[in-house]
Amino acid sequence: MNLELVRGICYIAASILFVFGLKMLGSPTTARRGNLVSAIGMLIAVVTALSAMTDIKWAWIIAGAGIGSAIGALAARLVKMTAMPQMVGLFNGFGGLASLLVGFSEFHSRWADADTTQLFTMVAIFLTVLTGGVTFSGSLVAYGKLAGVVTGKPVLYKGRNTVNTAILIAIVASGIFFCAQKLGQVENAETQGVYIALVGIVVLALILGVLSTIGIGGADMPVVICLLNSYSGLAACAAGFVINNNVLIVSGSLVGASGLVLTNIMCKAMNRSLANVLFSGFGSATAAKGAAYEGQARPVSAEDAYLILEAARSVVFVPGYGMAVAQAQHVVRELADMLTENGTEVKYCIHPVAGRMPGHMNVLLAEANVPYELLVEPQDVNPTMKIVDVAVVIGANDVVNPAAREDQSSPLWGMPVVDVDRARTCIVLKRSLNPGFAGVDNPLFFKDNTRMLFGDAKASVARLVSEFKH
Ligand code: NDP
Repeated sequence: MNLELVRGICYIAASILFVFGLKMLGSPTTARRGNLVSAIGMLIAVVTALSAMTDIKWAWIIAGAGIGSAIGALAARLVKMTAMPQMVGLFNGFGGLASLLVGFSEFHSRWADADTTQLFTMVAIFLTVLTGGVTFSGSLVAYGKLAGVVTGKPVLYKGRNTVNTAILIAIVASGIFFCAQKLGQVENAETQGVYIALVGIVVLALILGVLSTIGIGGADMPVVICLLNSYSGLAACAAGFVINNNVLIVSGSLVGASGLVLTNIMCKAMNRSLANVLFSGFGSATAAKGAAYEGQARPVSAEDAYLILEAARSVVFVPGYGMAVAQAQHVVRELADMLTENGTEVKYCIHPVAGRMPGHMNVLLAEANVPYELLVEPQDVNPTMKIVDVAVVIGANDVVNPAAREDQSSPLWGMPVVDVDRARTCIVLKRSLNPGFAGVDNPLFFKDNTRMLFGDAKASVARLVSEFKH
């Protein structure tokens, strides 16, 4: 059979595996298999692409694949779950850099080639280096903010939007000049001009990536990382057009589209527009802080909390970022098992933006082998919250803040939250009355039906478990 045809079939098979893999990632029950299916698709795509290359230095390919696999395997084993968002950010950045290099090297290898000078190729090269550059430098800043290397506060200066717009205009002007050239037909001097324009576009794209990300607070970085993820897909898609590789076009489009969908889901869950996330400087000292709530928080001992739980017929656990910090997921599962044995109906309500990355709580609970069928979403549990005996909030704060419903002056106003304050009793496990990520005070702590179980979440749940045992 014609080798080209076989390669085409392999690319279609890889694309189908990507689509199915992505679909399977949509549910916790199938996510692991989805990951594997997509990885197999990627292996087929890489092997097929390599098989099409004639002039290839295998030592470089093997060394690159070896080093990349070792870094990936080490990162997967060593990076803590709480550091996952910055790792994803870094990987996105390298995806963007890879596309940028593909665009640049294709330009290099073709610039004297009269056959490949179509406007289409030039536009594709321009878009590849532009999106690749913005993704790379923007992701490095996002990584720095989340890792604490760069300040988490939005870096705002007067006229920043004007500066960004000026850079964008310069990029578009250079892009038009660049795309208008016909590489194979220009003399040396003009070719140098094209070259300078391309280098200029790369430099400006890198600067734009930094400037547009540095003004966003660390709190919003996971959303920005989703957006940059989408950009890295678009860069890969454009690179696919440059090198005429169908599977790269398909996979890049899938990443681009799914990144945008995820960004949209997260913005909706925070009740904020993408423009607000990108341009409002949320989290700066000048951002609204909402009202400070006065009142008496009612501390509860582990012994008394145990008595409340022991008598409960229905319990809803609401985990948040504090559960990730305390690594309390395993003891939470143990406590839930004991409650179930005691005849209590147990559910876990997962807010879409609980924690610091999409799916953060799902990953932690899956690690503790919590059955997927016990996981529910806020819109499932909120309507029946009034008949829930106890809502146990484990290190969550913003996602259970009733100010989002009750206080129009709150920065969280309008954000869909878990209505734990409507349960008969609410037990909140955290170390203090300090605010969460959004820096907004929480009136939940002062409600009559709320009891505060102060301390590290893992230690508190372990004390509850030991009460049950004795
Ligand atoms: P929050 O950040 O609102 O609150 C977490 C709470 O955990 C803190 O108030 C802290 O209180 C407590 N905590 C920290 N360490 C411990 C510990 N060891 N034991 C017990 N408690 C602890 O978390 P939520 O999950 O409620 O909300 C997530 C926030 O992050 C939202 O504002 C969301 O918009 C934002 N966000 C989330 C993204 C995502 O993808 N998930 C993306 C972008 C933003 P204390 O110090 O008193 O213990």
